[in-house]
Amino acid sequence: MTPATDPTPIASTPQIVAREAHGISRKQISPNALRVLYKLGEAGFDAYLVGGAVRDLLVGGQPKDFDVATNATPEQVKALFRNCRLIGRRFRLAHVFFGPEIIEVATFRANSDDGSGDREMHEDGRVLRDNVYGSIEDDAVRRDFTANALYYGVRDFAVRDFVGGFADVQQRRLRLIGDPDTRYREDPVRMLRAARLSAKLGFTIDAATAAPIPTLAPLLAEAPPARLFDEMLKLFQSGHGLASFDALERLGLLPALLPETAAALAVDGEGRARAMLRKALENTDARVRAGKSVTPYFLFAALLWPAFRAELGQLAHEHLDPLAMQQRAADRVTLHQAQRIALPRRFSIPMQEIWLLQGRFDIRQRKRVLRLMAHPRFRAAYDFLALRTIEQPELAGPVAFWTQAQTMPQEKLAEQLAHLPRPAQPADAADDAGNGKRRRPRRRKRHASASDRGEPDTSP
Ligand code: ATP
Ligand code: MG
Repeated sequence: MTPATDPTPIASTPQIVAREAHGISRKQISPNALRVLYKLGEAGFDAYLVGGAVRDLLVGGQPKDFDVATNATPEQVKALFRNCRLIGRRFRLAHVFFGPEIIEVATFRANSDDGSGDREMHEDGRVLRDNVYGSIEDDAVRRDFTANALYYGVRDFAVRDFVGGFADVQQRRLRLIGDPDTRYREDPVRMLRAARLSAKLGFTIDAATAAPIPTLAPLLAEAPPARLFDEMLKLFQSGHGLASFDALERLGLLPALLPETAAALAVDGEGRARAMLRKALENTDARVRAGKSVTPYFLFAALLWPAFRAELGQLAHEHLDPLAMQQRAADRVTLHQAQRIALPRRFSIPMQEIWLLQGRFDIRQRKRVLRLMAHPRFRAAYDFLALRTIEQPELAGPVAFWTQAQTMPQEKLAEQLAHLPRPAQPADAADDAGNGKRRRPRRRKRHASASDRGEPDTSP
């Protein structure tokens, strides 16, 4: 954290940072974004590159996308570009399409209530609708952080700065524009953006910007769950997941996002649950950096694992059969979490499968080994088992077995498995001849047999 600075000075004449002083070169900018800027300029409009792209270029990063702000209205933008569609109800935006690339063009927007009735404010200070056009200065001050409010134009290749953002970027400091308390109340998601952007950019959060967060964190409960889901993916699947997690914990935001996981981590004596979760995020970051795919269900399986374990602990005295208990714990965690974050079913179902498959790794019977390996979620569940060795080192044995099972040639595996005990119960025989449908009661016996064999129990 950096020492608190004075509230953002808002200048009506911007500081103009000349081309030589900022180091942004046109070569780093998407040619399509440049086309949009030039065309709007030739038509007599003001147009600038703005937001994350300018910020990322200033710190030497590669922007994800290029957004343009202009004084042309969406209709005027549409009239200039054939490949343009207007979108958005809350605020009309123009999307200009160039093959797979979309350049988003937004008309300068004012955030102040000008009495036109176009702006609605919730009684607690949240902005519900802000469809008011404004000047470039208005557009700058309604943005969240000073670093996100810099405008790059192709008329003079200068950066325009109304809020002191250029100096903040140079000092690698994240600072809210205006009064932090008010700005978080208007839109609590800005607290998550503070955590995420500081993690992504390696910026320190200005003390005055950080100070209200622990107190205001509970306001996130009012944010739309679908928006929080999107924000979760940006926090954890953009290559800075571990740093984001640490920032969320430091700022006291974790209980507002993942209440049951935060509660479990608070009583995590040796810190093994936290270590496992941090390792999962580290692995995800490495995959993102290597250009490999990452999936929200594995991420949420890891994020909610401490909650799932805690729920299992709560159910322990109910003497349910292990599988019923695991299913109930998984359902409860999913249901409680859904009240905050809208995790779509296409992710919550495989997330639960990962958890429930953990109990099946202690089985070493022939058909079952082969069947488990054929399960569509086997690989994810196996990766998860490997992760769990951080929490339970004794799982290293089962991990070694399943690692070997996968690398062995099929015939050799079949041969090895032939030496394993055959299923003893009649139900098992039926199962071996069967069609692979789930049969709950059998699994209950497996848990008993795992400990009978003196093997570590991989069930959660
Ligand atoms: P990223 O690198 O993740 O894309 P970004 O800053 O570009 O970061 P976007 O969500 O793409 O984030 O938003 C684009 C711009 O819109 C921001 O730079 C900021 O100026 C403005 N903005 C986004 N969210 C808010 C918000 N909640 N309140 C005010 N301004 C916002
Ligand atoms: Mg962006």
